Amino acid sequence: VPLAIAVHGGAGPAPAPEREEALRAGVGAAARAGHAVLLAGGGALAAVETAVVALEDDPHFNAGRGSALSADGTVAMDAAIADGAGGAAGAVAAVRDIRNPVRAASALLADGRALLLAGDGASRFAEEQGLERRPPAWFVTDEARARLERTRAPAPAAPGTVGAVALDGAGRIAAATSTGGRPAKPPGRIGDSPLLGAGTWAAAETAAVSCTGDGEPIIRAALAHEVDALMRHAGLPLAVAAERALAGLARHGGTGGLIAIDAAGALALPFTTGAMSRAWIGPDGTALAAVGQEPATRAP
Ligand code: ASP
Repeated sequence: VPLAIAVHGGAGPAPAPEREEALRAGVGAAARAGHAVLLAGGGALAAVETAVVALEDDPHFNAGRGSALSADGTVAMDAAIADGAGGAAGAVAAVRDIRNPVRAASALLADGRALLLAGDGASRFAEEQGLERRPPAWFVTDEARARLERTRAPAPAAPGTVGAVALDGAGRIAAATSTGGRPAKPPGRIGDSPLLGAGTWAAAETAAVSCTGDGEPIIRAALAHEVDALMRHAGLPLAVAAERALAGLARHGGTGGLIAIDAAGALALPFTTGAMSRAWIGPDGTALAAVGQEPATRAP
């Protein structure tokens, strides 16, 4: 079985040139971190968690520290992880003090008492699991504060939500997504990322998918599940299903992007925004990265 991994660092308008290199480096490093897990014999689930943790810890991305701020200047993060093998999933929403929300999602997947925990209950669960916590102010960077100042009204997607999909040596696929959400979102708003079938999905017989872009249209389109549905019901190959699902997002008034993988290691990384930072490593082991429409090059 070929090993493969893809990561994204969010769809949105093309970033300023001075940010581009940091985004390329970030997604490249995350893809390598996840790939190292696969090379060591680890599972797809562990690989996507590791890749997403790397991006949550990188303040250039809208997940973990550096998350986009709600209209009231606070952070509320969403994350999900899904296992194609068996279909188990875990997710957290509107969490404020868990250093790596994807780790809490993963712990919940393993725990199995619930699929999605929000707010304080998710924090207590993270505490119980011995996960690292941080005070809410720790997540707020100067850059995120400056961005909120510029963005008075709730804004469309900003580049920076993160996600990963992977195929391991046992032929299992998995997906994970993590985000601070839409910049200047109303307090209490939960996006597509932690919702199974909307922003995150994995099923062994079809695909593992992580989405980014306008959250509300993605939820209404059930975008990640739409890739699955087009593969199962219309018999489309992964790349065609991914393109068509994303084209359907426009009917719901949204733009965005997604990354998807199937059990044969086929990858698709389409987007309808100006840019989607992304990196991937296929069976030949070469790490490729790109931010906008330019051809991908070796990841830094
Ligand atoms: N989809 C994310 C959300 O709406 C934002 C993004 O991908 O930029 O929460």
